[in-house]
Amino acid sequence: MRTQVAIVGAGPAGLLLGQLLHRHGIDNVIVERRSADYVLGRIRAGVLEQGMVDLLHEAGVGARVDAEGIPHDGFEMALGERRVRIDLAALTGGKRVTVYGQTEVTRDLMAARREAGLTTLYDAEEVALHGIESESPHLECRYNGEWMRLECDYIAGCDGFHGVSRQSIPATRLTTFERDYPFGWLGLLARYPAGTP
Ligand SMILES: Cc1cc2nc3c(=O)[nH]c(=O)nc-3n(C[C@H](O)[C@H](O)[C@H](O)COP(=O)(O)OP(=O)(O)OC[C@H]3O[C@@H](n4cnc5c(N)ncnc54)[C@H](O)[C@@H]3O)c2cc1C
Repeated sequence: MRTQVAIVGAGPAGLLLGQLLHRHGIDNVIVERRSADYVLGRIRAGVLEQGMVDLLHEAGVGARVDAEGIPHDGFEMALGERRVRIDLAALTGGKRVTVYGQTEVTRDLMAARREAGLTTLYDAEEVALHGIESESPHLECRYNGEWMRLECDYIAGCDGFHGVSRQSIPATRLTTFERDYPFGWLGLLARYPAGTP
């Protein structure tokens, strides 16, 4: 099998990249080690920042997040008896966050991929990257019990920190971009009737 871009991982990063590439006329195949049902059932994020919602629109999959997402212009922090409102919209020139599950983002992107006739190989085992420093890289994996080879121009590793892509990059070539903050945060989502103190 041959494609322009072989993408490892069908999480939000891989699916969104595939959709954006497709909209720019670039063919791609996603190789995912889990089943589609497993990926869809994996409960994770619930809050999307403005940039992500904008990107979903750019990718042509913004209709449902507009219809079903719950926008929040700010949030409250409770400090003992005191409640402090953080007005995101006022502080950022109108930006807001949207409550919309990662599973729903995944569902929208999977549907767009199906509609576009793009290939996703779910349940691919023992995915391995080869020739990544050459002009003709390729992926190998076991798919439906058989070994298969996916030729491509580029490999995009969207399989997370612990995935096979990161491990395949030679240490001398790997550059890590990250910012460590001296604090962490915990978000709690709650549904309660309006006016409840
Ligand atoms: C509990 C929780 C709550 C979160 N809440 C939020 C939130 O509110 N807002 C927010 O913005 N973010 C949140 N996040 C973070 C968000 O879920 C991640 O940033 C997001 O999932 C990253 O997407 P990704 O596509 O990069 O990686 P992943 O979603 O991890 O996808 C990687 C994919 O690669 C596949 N894969 C791995 N190894 C291989 C391999 N060897 N071969 C083939 N495929 C492979 C995996 O099966 C997976 O499908 C939360 C995360 C967690 C765990």
